[in-house]
Amino acid sequence: GDEFVVVMRDVAGREDVQQLVERRLIPLIRQSHPVEGHELNVSCSVGIAVYPEDGSDIDEIMRRADAAMYEAKTTGRDMALFYSAETDQRAVARQTMEQHLRRALEREELSQQYQPRLSAKGARLLGVEALLRWNSPVLGAIPPSEFIPIAEETGMIRAIGSWVLQQACEQWVRWQTLALDTGLGDTVVPHPLAHVSISVNLSAAQLSDPLLVSDIQALLARTGMPAHRLELEITESQLMDNAHASELQLAALKLLGVQLSIDDFGTGYSSLAYLKRFDIDRLKVDKSFVHDMLSNPADMAITRAIIALGHTLGLKIVAEGVEDLATAQVLSALDCEELQGYHFSRPLPVAQLEAWALQHQPPLAHEREALSTGW
Ligand code: C2E
Ligand code: CA
Ligand code: CA
Repeated sequence: GDEFVVVMRDVAGREDVQQLVERRLIPLIRQSHPVEGHELNVSCSVGIAVYPEDGSDIDEIMRRADAAMYEAKTTGRDMALFYSAETDQRAVARQTMEQHLRRALEREELSQQYQPRLSAKGARLLGVEALLRWNSPVLGAIPPSEFIPIAEETGMIRAIGSWVLQQACEQWVRWQTLALDTGLGDTVVPHPLAHVSISVNLSAAQLSDPLLVSDIQALLARTGMPAHRLELEITESQLMDNAHASELQLAALKLLGVQLSIDDFGTGYSSLAYLKRFDIDRLKVDKSFVHDMLSNPADMAITRAIIALGHTLGLKIVAEGVEDLATAQVLSALDCEELQGYHFSRPLPVAQLEAWALQHQPPLAHEREALSTGW
């Protein structure tokens, strides 16, 4: 398949092995390979076990090199890792998490929180992003950064992802019926959340699912949610990993009328040629740049460059991870259109979000507020 074993004899020590793997083996594999007129690029992850420290027979050495490779694979690309005692512990912890995650959906341990996204000028509530939460009765609250990768590797993300989409659409529809009694006779005004879009994060596995588009189409039809109120976020690295297939799928999604964003922008390697061809609406500047932009000139330069690039391509820019007023003001001055972050609100459970939205944007003064609200 796609796994190879390299046996190295007469090595002086671990450094020797590491040098060979990192300086020679990985770079050689990373080179572009011309095949039938195409340039093919492959990445590789390497796990290393050393005899006799890591095992006394070939089976044990192989099993441990494999465990280290698995760990290298989940840590990042083009990584080489040595087997260590913690490798086994982490492998067991991961297996435990996987077993519990398998039952999390049916046991209703998953839920969603929603984080507001606002206009930079006027601080109007434009949308909310659905963020998955897992509260396991055995393992406790596990952050998505830990369980989403497992869901992705095991394929569970398809079931979880379609549940997330369904929850989000049903929630949007419920907000439409949340009319507020004004106490002024028959006057009923819609809740501020009736006007929002809902953003849902999509994984690469979902994007490559040939049924994704028809599933979303059916979901929208069944719930009655208009397509333009649904926004799908896909990370830059996941999009670019399989740029050609992504392009076709994005075009099909766009045809449905849903909005598309590239998430965590600036952390991957974008092909600008593809970026131009992708039919997307928004770029989300990764929070790692936003976080320190006021103190770190490089982060500020990157943020400005992303805003300029996005505008040239006719895209709206969202800054995520806005944690203070000064950053919000600078981003607004840089013409970044939309802001999201703890400064405005953390991701909230539905009831708290509904209260937050009313307080942030009283519905009666809706239009007036929109023009005058500062931060
Ligand atoms: P993301 O899509 O980039 O989501 C933004 C993350 O930043 C969220 O973390 C959010 O809570 C956090 N955040 C928001 N504002 C701030 C801020 O001002 N400062 C800081 N430091 N952080 C902020 P969270 O909820 O832990 O989610 C982590 C990641 O997990 C998400 O990153 C997304 O990639 C993934 N994820 C979450 N829900 C789903 C889902 O339903 N499906 C998929 N495929 N991925 C999901
Ligand atoms: Ca996101
Ligand atoms: Ca992001």
